[in-house]
Amino acid sequence: MKTKFILLVLSVYLSSISVINALELPAESAVPGGIAIISIHTEEKPEAYLNDQRVMVVGSSDNWKAIVGIPLTEKTGSQVLTVKNNDLKTNYQFEILNKEYETQYLTIKNKRKVNPNKQDMSRIVAEKEIISKAKSHWRDSDNITLQFIKPTEGPYSSPFGLKRFFNKQPRKPHSGLDIAAPKGTPIAAPANGIVINTGNYFFNGNTVFIDHGQGLITMYCHMNHIDIKEGSQVKTGDIIGKVGLTGRVTGAHLHWSVILNNTTVDPLLFLAK
Ligand SMILES: [Zn+2]
Repeated sequence: MKTKFILLVLSVYLSSISVINALELPAESAVPGGIAIISIHTEEKPEAYLNDQRVMVVGSSDNWKAIVGIPLTEKTGSQVLTVKNNDLKTNYQFEILNKEYETQYLTIKNKRKVNPNKQDMSRIVAEKEIISKAKSHWRDSDNITLQFIKPTEGPYSSPFGLKRFFNKQPRKPHSGLDIAAPKGTPIAAPANGIVINTGNYFFNGNTVFIDHGQGLITMYCHMNHIDIKEGSQVKTGDIIGKVGLTGRVTGAHLHWSVILNNTTVDPLLFLAK
């Protein structure tokens, strides 16, 4: 009888831990390039979609949270999350607030990295397909860490979302967070995951993609060396490679991107603690 009671207490204690873990969320910031967190009260785990992209859902019965990555290109104002529960479809309206990102002007000495030649272009097109596939990867998982450790030591040198000009020509906004560090500084996995792609790409240089589950993907660029193989499982803190200056760079740094529902969001939202 006594043993039974202890077991009961233990199981209540353990289940309360798992509830706490499930509620460790990223910081919310419902702006373009940010994250909206939407509560869904259904008994069974629903599926959620934004612009036809599957969205991460975490939590437990009657207390689900959709963790919605908002594209940098999204307009401010009302947006709709579509929630599917069995055959039932419900629209959840939410508001996207405004955020003004700074402008940055960069001078790239290697002009081919700003205006690639014909041969470079065919390489870029082929690579774009591989990169898009990695960013849109989906794997079901109910055990996702939503608070990360910083993947490398060093100051932030370029925030996420900067409007960018390379050699005075407008280019896409900055899709990650840059951490300045000397060549050879180790880069660690910020959370548990599976390495789904490694490669050497024209703009991004030596690159690693880690899949953390349910469309949460992290990307590491310009690496000097990749120390991990495709298909490897990584745990928080495992070394995946070293900082370098491969690809389109002005100096040694780690470009770190975080992707949710196939859209890049501000990595700082996952470093809230
Ligand atoms: Zn960058």
